[in-house]
Amino acid sequence: MNVSEFRVRFWGVRGSHSATGAAMIGVGGNTTCLEVNADGHQIIIDAGTGIIHLGHEMTKNNGEKAIDATLLFTHAHIDHTQGFPFFPPSYRGTSILRVLGPMALEQTLEEAIAGSMLPPFSPVALHEMPCSMIMRNITESNYILFKNGDPEPRIDNLYNPSFRPAATDVRIGILRSYAHPKGGVLVFRIDHADRSCVFATDVEGYVGGDQRLIAFARGSDFLIHDAQYELEEYLSPTRSTQGWGHSTWDMATDVAKQAGVRNLILTHHDPFHEDKQVEQIEAKAQKKFSATVAAREGMELDLLAGSINQA
Ligand SMILES: [Zn+2]
Ligand SMILES: [Zn+2]
Repeated sequence: MNVSEFRVRFWGVRGSHSATGAAMIGVGGNTTCLEVNADGHQIIIDAGTGIIHLGHEMTKNNGEKAIDATLLFTHAHIDHTQGFPFFPPSYRGTSILRVLGPMALEQTLEEAIAGSMLPPFSPVALHEMPCSMIMRNITESNYILFKNGDPEPRIDNLYNPSFRPAATDVRIGILRSYAHPKGGVLVFRIDHADRSCVFATDVEGYVGGDQRLIAFARGSDFLIHDAQYELEEYLSPTRSTQGWGHSTWDMATDVAKQAGVRNLILTHHDPFHEDKQVEQIEAKAQKKFSATVAAREGMELDLLAGSINQA
């Protein structure tokens, strides 16, 4: 079995909308996009503006070789889909893209993405992209399995009695969180080679901690959790962000502690938080959960080594 690699790289760590300017450059201004490389499989989560830069790297490094990747959407909000029309591999006829994500209210994933690219909003329609693309809806009763040596993921059902994933598979479990406006959001847990990583963006905490998320993330090596707000912003009497579907940093540390994870990574940074403020949030969070790091563009988690490599 080839377990030479299990890495997560951050290509976009901003929430709501992109940010720019010298005071933002350390953390980075692109919206959500993660790249996971595990056992030879390339898995991308969300297509915020960060995916544009990832796509350029993919086409540059691949030469004329065909690109074969799986893209998972947590939900269809614009900060998680906006980069998709500008993803260079989609414009190569040789690329194979498997795109999986939730229904967006009453729309299928394909209808939602196609709708975001209709004229007059986009010069290119979804069906005009020359790559081979398969789009499919997934729910929390599904489980995505990448078998060693098989590029095609299998989408199984948790309740299928013959469902028995092997420890050597790259296994992606799904939790649907209701703590995000208009339809909720999918949380993903990726397990491989006795290591695991949970990506919980666009979730808001509950009193006493989000118990379903805590159970889902139990014992994980890395929990990547939304931490958009300071408590003062969340509780502001004039502009409270309560109910907007995002967490404060201490909601994130609360889940990390209760779930017994090894490391907590804070993400979906507010687009108005400058580098200094993100550093302050990171320092405050470390006092509650010492193994906390704020995600920055270019940062990489090496799950097999258990290390965090800053860009
Ligand atoms: Zn978002
Ligand atoms: Zn959202």
